Amino acid sequence: MTEAKPHTSKHSKTPHSQPNKPPSTYNTMSSLLKADVWVSSRLPIAIQRDGQSSAFSPISCALIHGTYEAVLVDTPISTTQTTDLTKWIEETAPTKTLKYIYITHGHGDHWFGIPLLLKRWPSARAIATPATVAHSQGQLEPEKFIDIWTRFFPGQIYQPQKTAEPWPSDTFTMEGHEFRIIEVGHTDTLDSTALYTPDIHLVVAGDIVYGDVHQFFWGG
Ligand SMILES: [Zn+2]
Repeated sequence: MTEAKPHTSKHSKTPHSQPNKPPSTYNTMSSLLKADVWVSSRLPIAIQRDGQSSAFSPISCALIHGTYEAVLVDTPISTTQTTDLTKWIEETAPTKTLKYIYITHGHGDHWFGIPLLLKRWPSARAIATPATVAHSQGQLEPEKFIDIWTRFFPGQIYQPQKTAEPWPSDTFTMEGHEFRIIEVGHTDTLDSTALYTPDIHLVVAGDIVYGDVHQFFWGG
């Protein structure tokens, strides 16, 4: 097995346009994982509820990164939020390339940022369980996408949209580290998942767990 190069990004002068080249194989002992969390702003909702203005709950996205590559878990909703997330990834993990964007469940507020992120990192693959992809496709039907999402956030959701691709396994790897997809059934919506990274004992729970906001119950 080829040894990965020691972590040098702290002192690296490599610009974004010339990312470090990952080796073809990894020694996981030399590829240490880090995890960071980005939390979005609250996006104002364009339609009033009971005569009052409101805003959407903040959205958290996790970045798990090694020496050369990174995995992003979930995306925000709007183009502005996704641009902010992209800048944060570039600052948090400079020179690293997104390998996977893992989507925890089908609600659009967790994956509408996919097309913009794939423009920035075209070699990345946006993946989810087949059930989550099927749910996601339903979010693009007119009664959901036109009647709900674009009414809530007119002109703010990137189009054309692109769902994740169905991932045929319950694991994937980045720099030799295993990521396990944990299917948990119906939580805030159907067919939800969490992502477990054993090497750093990390569970990214999507909307299975809410932090400091009311849980959103919407099975559609
Ligand atoms: Zn949700």
